[in-house]
Amino acid sequence: MSFVIAVDGPAASGKGTVAQRLAQAYGLPYLDTGLLYRAVGVTLIEDGLSLDDPEAAEAAARVLCLETLDQLDLRGRMAGEAASRVAVHPGVRAALLELQRGFARQPGGAVLDGRDIGTVIAPDATVKIYVTASPEVRAERRWKQLAGLGEQVAYDDVLEDIRKRDARDGGRDAAPMTMAEGAQLLDTTHMDIEAATDAARRIVEAARAAGPTGAQG
Ligand code: C5P
Repeated sequence: MSFVIAVDGPAASGKGTVAQRLAQAYGLPYLDTGLLYRAVGVTLIEDGLSLDDPEAAEAAARVLCLETLDQLDLRGRMAGEAASRVAVHPGVRAALLELQRGFARQPGGAVLDGRDIGTVIAPDATVKIYVTASPEVRAERRWKQLAGLGEQVAYDDVLEDIRKRDARDGGRDAAPMTMAEGAQLLDTTHMDIEAATDAARRIVEAARAAGPTGAQG
């Protein structure tokens, strides 16, 4: 039986690290789906095209492949903002759908993290976890991460970014960020990454013990 772990949640909630650690622990391939949206945004910027142009954004998404991701600088603040703007276009989401579903369908399973993994990409996932934390704590984490990348930004500006991104990701019509049916909530506000990973593992173990819940194949 295929073993798919869907991890969703807002920016800097800890979902990426938790998902990566779960992938390591269970020996599963891992996909950070945010990178796909970041790559579409960065490609448009590099080509001098508008992030708000749905056709241009969809065209960039259609030619994207996983190998391209290594060639772009996708971790910075600008890439995150650009990703969130292109992610509102339904055509972009449709273009990236099969790539993500294909990854989730690998024999043995996979771990994917994003905003719509449990709702749209892998609604039959074996385990769904929705990772969150307070905006202030997430802003602090993102601020430190950006500083590590050499980006000096005021904390208040990072908090403002986080709030704007939450509103855009949660308020859009196409696959809005929301907790999927059957997902377990993991609030990491008062947890370090070790505690968050332990809690996530307990959720996965409980789901495994409970047995298959849907058509995971
Ligand atoms: O996870 P990350 O912060 O890298 O995602 C960047 C942006 O990409 C998000 O703010 C969101 O707008 C978009 N995204 C999405 N669906 C996903 C993953 C990311 O809409 N599955």
